[in-house]
Amino acid sequence: MKESIKENLDEILSKLSTTEAKLIAVTKTHPLEKLQTLYDLGFKVFGENRVQELTEKYEKLPKDIEWHLIGTLQTNKTKYIAPFISMIHSVESFKLLKEINKRAKQNERVIECLLQMHIAEEDTKFGLDEKELYEILESEELKTFENIKLVGLMGMATFTENENQVRSEFKKLKSLFDKVKANFNTENITFRELSMGMSGDYPIAIEEGATLVRIGSAIFGSR
Ligand SMILES: *Cc1c(COP(=O)(O)O)cnc(C)c1O
Repeated sequence: MKESIKENLDEILSKLSTTEAKLIAVTKTHPLEKLQTLYDLGFKVFGENRVQELTEKYEKLPKDIEWHLIGTLQTNKTKYIAPFISMIHSVESFKLLKEINKRAKQNERVIECLLQMHIAEEDTKFGLDEKELYEILESEELKTFENIKLVGLMGMATFTENENQVRSEFKKLKSLFDKVKANFNTENITFRELSMGMSGDYPIAIEEGATLVRIGSAIFGSR
């Protein structure tokens, strides 16, 4: 098990080494020992999608791990992760952003956030559309949030074999990212991260400008 995790990690890191993209190892559903294996190999950037699992793992593992939340966050659970979370990829509402700011302030921290966009053709309920994105970015109240930083966008492509479709969805997200980056630059909006690409589609995401890829099964095997 250890050997294959090492091989998989090395292979992915070597593919990324010639690009701008950084790896987030998606550790959801995997037991602590596998996370510890990655840690012992020197890799310490982990992504989880559920608050309870994330906080349990945080408590049991070394404190120099950089944790990313990549799944839906219910407003009332923000307080549990605010003391330690590095980045929240899945912000989908102004209300949530306001709560993250409040909890970050209580912890005397600044939490980096990505706005999750709906780019897939699939009719999921996840992610903002463009209009909702601009409503958040243009909000006057946002300017008063001193304990969050909006650093980019996140998106998930349609789950399909059709590479052209996946590519065109990533292209759309990248062009939106570039537009926001060029037009919004305030105290707490500084775009630099584009989180897109998972085990099945990360090579395409990198070609289309991803700066963060979220990879689970290609490291650990299928869940
Ligand atoms: C599970 C998950 C991933 C990783 O998926 P793999 O296919 O295992 O690489 C990436 N992003 C999100 C939001 C996820 O929930």
